[in-house]
Amino acid sequence: MALLLIALTYEEFESWVTIWVPILFMGLIVFFLWRMIKVMPKTKPQQIKPESSISIGWDDVAGTDEARHELQEVVEFLRDPRRFQALGARVPKGILLHGPPGTGKTLLAKAVAHESGANFFSQSAAAFVEQFVGLGAARIRRLFAIARKHAPAIIFIDELDAVGGRRGSDISGEKDQTLNQLLVEMDGFGTTDDVVVIAASNLLEKLDPALLRPGRLDRQIFVSPPDVKGREGILRVHTRDKPLHDVDLAVIAQQTSGLTGADLANICNEAAIRAARRGGTSISMADFDAGLERVVAGMQSRRKLNDHERQVVAYHEAGHALCAELLPTVDRVHKISIVPRGRALGYTLNLPAEDRYLKTRQELIDYMSVLLGGRVAEQIVFGSITTGAADDLFKVAEITRSMVHEYAMGTGLSSSRMDVGGGELSDMTRRVRDQEQRDLADEAYRAAYALIDAHRDKLRELAETLLRDEVLDRAEIDRIMEGVQPPRPRTSPGLRVAAASDQPLPEPSGD
Ligand code: ADP
Ligand code: MG
Ligand code: ZN
Repeated sequence: MALLLIALTYEEFESWVTIWVPILFMGLIVFFLWRMIKVMPKTKPQQIKPESSISIGWDDVAGTDEARHELQEVVEFLRDPRRFQALGARVPKGILLHGPPGTGKTLLAKAVAHESGANFFSQSAAAFVEQFVGLGAARIRRLFAIARKHAPAIIFIDELDAVGGRRGSDISGEKDQTLNQLLVEMDGFGTTDDVVVIAASNLLEKLDPALLRPGRLDRQIFVSPPDVKGREGILRVHTRDKPLHDVDLAVIAQQTSGLTGADLANICNEAAIRAARRGGTSISMADFDAGLERVVAGMQSRRKLNDHERQVVAYHEAGHALCAELLPTVDRVHKISIVPRGRALGYTLNLPAEDRYLKTRQELIDYMSVLLGGRVAEQIVFGSITTGAADDLFKVAEITRSMVHEYAMGTGLSSSRMDVGGGELSDMTRRVRDQEQRDLADEAYRAAYALIDAHRDKLRELAETLLRDEVLDRAEIDRIMEGVQPPRPRTSPGLRVAAASDQPLPEPSGD
């Protein structure tokens, strides 16, 4: 039976092979030819033309006053190049906007184009790097030729990092050729071509130094994350056409130190979405709170915790919060939650009142105490610790490392030596420094232990309230902490939005 079946199918198979394989083969050839024809025109002539109707102006950009101030000069030049040329002024031909992602570099370039009325040719550098060597270079050549014809014009090369890395690092040579062509074109600029090149990059250090030489991208403008006034301005831009109810943008600006313009735009959008979903007609402060939380801490996850896990997480977060409340140099707790979000099972959101970038040794120790507070609480209440504190420990290790190796804030054993930060360390020095790091972490751990041990009642109250309500806001924390005196007077609060979040516990088995 089985044999017969095989014989039959084999016969069929034979006729199938002789008839169908040649047909299939030809079909494949036709298919590939057709694919090639389809791809060719796309890589070849692809039209380069100025971007029409950019509606972004200075009004849409906030918090980047310095960059804007420098770019104003370019705007004036492009509006009336003759006025500058008549005086023999040398106007920058190449400008590099650099800074972290989301700070508004692309936005600024568009604003320059709009405000100057110049033709705007925008290309992402990644688009230049073609499959075939030499095509990227050809595209650059064409781009510059066309822009010259349409002068006054701006050539904007976004994400320059894609081709602008140090030469010699890519195997095909395509990137290097493209970059070389870019350099050639910029050198070939005459003083009468009213064309300005603006490029954007996230990391100045990674660019090929040849790009930054005089005559090329020789004016570098750093676009920094906004300060508190800047953040308020950006929030204002992004809420311009949104109905707000009792929303204090200045307060939100204070709560978002360290965030970029893109983050803030995101928060405004999330707030509007939340207002719409709850059927509101205007956006409230609570909507913004939710938007902020979502952007900073990530989306609420569906993960369900069992009772014991919830207890551990509640005490862990209560430990963080209690230390933060009791330590005067640390940011105030804005919110505690044991609703899992993103990778975190729970989190304690600390919000500073102002941006500050320098920290003293004591402030760093205090901050580490807050990070260790979660683990200490678990230890005190359950007598054991879980892997939930892994992320906290990682941060502590990072802090002690920079304290010892970069700031020479160790216990003093190795700081007296001259080799701080320099070259290879001897084995001996390394051992001493490792010890110093452990000592610093120990100091923070002991402080956290003493605080939590002395306020076990408050720890319990925070944790139990969390287990009941899942989320504690500032008012509730105030109520619970009432009458508790911080050991030292509160000085000005600290650094940035720090979501002390925790990695998941190990999956409970058989769950
Ligand atoms: P970058 O190019 O620096 O990565 P983008 O210019 O692409 O940043 O910014 C992304 C978005 O974030 C913008 O479209 C805008 O909505 C918002 N944004 C960023 N910075 C600002 C700013 N300074 N003012 C207003 N909006 C901003
Ligand atoms: Mg950009
Ligand atoms: Zn933690």
